[in-house]
Amino acid sequence: MVEIKTPEQIAKMREAGLVVAAIHEATRAAAVPGASTKDLDDVARKVLADHGAKSNFLGYGGFPATICTSVNDVVVHGIPDRETVLKDGDIISVDAGAIVDGWHGDAAFTVFVGTGHAPELHELSRVTEESMWAGIAAVRKGNRLVDISKAIEGYIRRQPRPASGKYGIIEDYGGHGIGSQMHMDPHLLNYVSKKRGKGPRLVTGFCIAIEPMVSLGTVKTHVLSDDWTVKTDDGTWSSHWEHSVALTEAGPLVLTAVDGGKAKLAELGVETAPDPLG
Ligand code: MG
Repeated sequence: MVEIKTPEQIAKMREAGLVVAAIHEATRAAAVPGASTKDLDDVARKVLADHGAKSNFLGYGGFPATICTSVNDVVVHGIPDRETVLKDGDIISVDAGAIVDGWHGDAAFTVFVGTGHAPELHELSRVTEESMWAGIAAVRKGNRLVDISKAIEGYIRRQPRPASGKYGIIEDYGGHGIGSQMHMDPHLLNYVSKKRGKGPRLVTGFCIAIEPMVSLGTVKTHVLSDDWTVKTDDGTWSSHWEHSVALTEAGPLVLTAVDGGKAKLAELGVETAPDPLG
């Protein structure tokens, strides 16, 4: 069952999305050499408190923090701690969420710590982010869920291969419906699988978190003994980008982007819905 939202509910999700965007801005600025991943979690906690929002990550399945901090070969679900200190040359993905009046937002970005990263890493992050936007541009009335998967995968496959050989589209994790809970039906693969059908038709009020995860090698991952941290099996580094998106009568609205996705979607020839908060 897919939860369909009213315009009022989407406006609440927009409020939550803007809190997530504020967490992104603050944690991006704090991701500098010498900062621990726990420092970033402290920054996120303060933003949540300042906005009177609740964390949807803290306590989720026992998760002990308000953000996931995934460094280098960690794909997703890294737990912030004092021992993991960022150093020049690292890449980190920060995944953050917020609840406002029972409605959820969820988004992630990859950031470069310090300077001097190989061009291949910049390209990895660019390809991952752009594949997310290609998926967002496919959130249109009449499309099916699989059209989002197809757009994400198609974008990645069209890119020049990295020196490592190929991009690995992580298979064990994907996007998800979002609304009155953080993780809801439907599950969104970041690639097309013949084993799955086309998925539901996209209608007004459909909301989805789109989150490609891409490595410089394998598609396979494993979970560490902390039961959370997900690493690539071959140790290659990976990137993760995510936005929560609503399909409205007037088109898509990127709930977790400050401008609602307007600038980026315009580049892709897609008109963004007006911001319900003005
Ligand atoms: Mg998510």
